[in-house]
Amino acid sequence: MGDVAAFEEMKAELLKSGEARKLMAKLGKDLTINVKAGGPNNFNPNTNTINIDPSRGVRFSREGVVYGYAPPVEALAHEMAHAASYRENPYTWESRGTQMNVSGWNAEEEEAVEVENRIGAELGWTYRPGYIGGVGIATTSATSTEFTNEMLNEWMPKYGEAMELVSAMENWKSLAAMLPFEQETTWLLEEKIENAYWKKIGELTR
Ligand SMILES: [Zn+2]
Repeated sequence: MGDVAAFEEMKAELLKSGEARKLMAKLGKDLTINVKAGGPNNFNPNTNTINIDPSRGVRFSREGVVYGYAPPVEALAHEMAHAASYRENPYTWESRGTQMNVSGWNAEEEEAVEVENRIGAELGWTYRPGYIGGVGIATTSATSTEFTNEMLNEWMPKYGEAMELVSAMENWKSLAAMLPFEQETTWLLEEKIENAYWKKIGELTR
């Protein structure tokens, strides 16, 4: 189980949502939820285990546009959606994982994001327009979107003031789009560029 306090906090939050309660009812009793700060967020069907990092939320962005912020608990809801999907039908889970939609997202991820959004509508999370990624950022708690880094709290709302850096980042991304990378690789690259961007902002605001 790992961090019991963080798990209890996330569970209490999810129980406030009818959609999350419906989702939780679909999970098998034998599901293990491993809560570990600094660990990965994923669902492993072989061991029927969800791994969750309760210390980092996500700042969603795509092509320089920030869509919003997710608390760590949102990742738990997302992985629960995969676990429920796998339990319901492992074959559908498998085949949906290889079907891509027009945006290049696989159908299983698309479905997990829809579940996330239904729960989020009840709990006040940012609407996530598809399986867009982002940068993981440490939050003050497992259910919060407030970053532990005060510089980021101050700078996130003023994103527009950093447009020059955004356009530099865009150039990187259009270059990345021309290269024959897998989608996953492109996202990893995006994350690296975004991290460089925030490092730059750190330098500028020192
Ligand atoms: Zn997923």
